[in-house]
Amino acid sequence: MKALYCLSFDKKTEWIDDGLKLVEDQLGTALLTFLSTDFDTFLNELVVTADDLNHPTDREKLAEAVAAKIKSQYPFLTSALLPMSFEKKKVIWLRYRLLELEKLRSDLCALVDDVFLMDERKESPLQRLCMRQSRDKLLAAKLAGLSDYLRVERRIYIGGHEFVPILSPAQEMKPPEDITSRLFLGADDLQAVLLTEIQEMAQQNVRLKKCAYCGGYFQPFSSRTVYCDRLAGKAGKTCKELAAKEKYEKKIAADEGLSLYQRRNKAYAMRVSRAPAIYQDAEYQAWKQAAEAAVKQYVDGTLDLERLTQILEIPNAKAVRSH
Ligand SMILES: [Zn+2]
Repeated sequence: MKALYCLSFDKKTEWIDDGLKLVEDQLGTALLTFLSTDFDTFLNELVVTADDLNHPTDREKLAEAVAAKIKSQYPFLTSALLPMSFEKKKVIWLRYRLLELEKLRSDLCALVDDVFLMDERKESPLQRLCMRQSRDKLLAAKLAGLSDYLRVERRIYIGGHEFVPILSPAQEMKPPEDITSRLFLGADDLQAVLLTEIQEMAQQNVRLKKCAYCGGYFQPFSSRTVYCDRLAGKAGKTCKELAAKEKYEKKIAADEGLSLYQRRNKAYAMRVSRAPAIYQDAEYQAWKQAAEAAVKQYVDGTLDLERLTQILEIPNAKAVRSH
């Protein structure tokens, strides 16, 4: 019986069998993909829509639609949702399963932060994992118990596809080309496989950072790298490109807002010094304070140019005199 979740490790590399073929990734990819999964959005979709549906068939269809969406975005979760087809109350089952997965995700995030995040700490990931186990006995027990879950499977791949001779009729075979043999670690328990991956990552000294743009984990090229290479937003740009674009737009806004403010401020200050009876200093100080706050809001993008121009308008003399 094959395990539901399997990984094979090598130097800085891992292999996953996505059900169709052998896929090679950077070590840690399966874990980081799981940690970046937004289970709350799927849960919301399921719960909010299910409340409006009374007919059992409609509710069943909804659960299947949400599960299909998850599987298409995160193929490795296909096995995690497999038992749903045997369930009668699919919405309830899927909701419970997503809550479980979200709990696992947040628990693993805390562990990953402690073990792999690059910061001022000097200890290696492996040292940190040992130190954490000495404090966290629940984690220590989970890691000690992994051998109860894990199985080892030797698999042969020909042209990237698994060779399963037992299922095909007996026949003569030409010497196969492009043949690989890999040892897989597998389990029917997702947590067991992800913890095994964490142990392998610690042993191979993997370091992680959180992207300064999207907040997701990534493996930086150097300690100076701050953005990941994931594609964010609709334009298909990377976090690095999007952050640079925002910075540039902010700079333009800062130049524009500041120069408008400086022109108006100079003109107002001149009027106050030439005609203090009409343009009172107290009024000017209040205007200045409001104007500076407005420029800051404009640079941050919370105020548009039209509103900024209105706020920076110098109050006319008539209005001031009537106070
Ligand atoms: Zn990012």
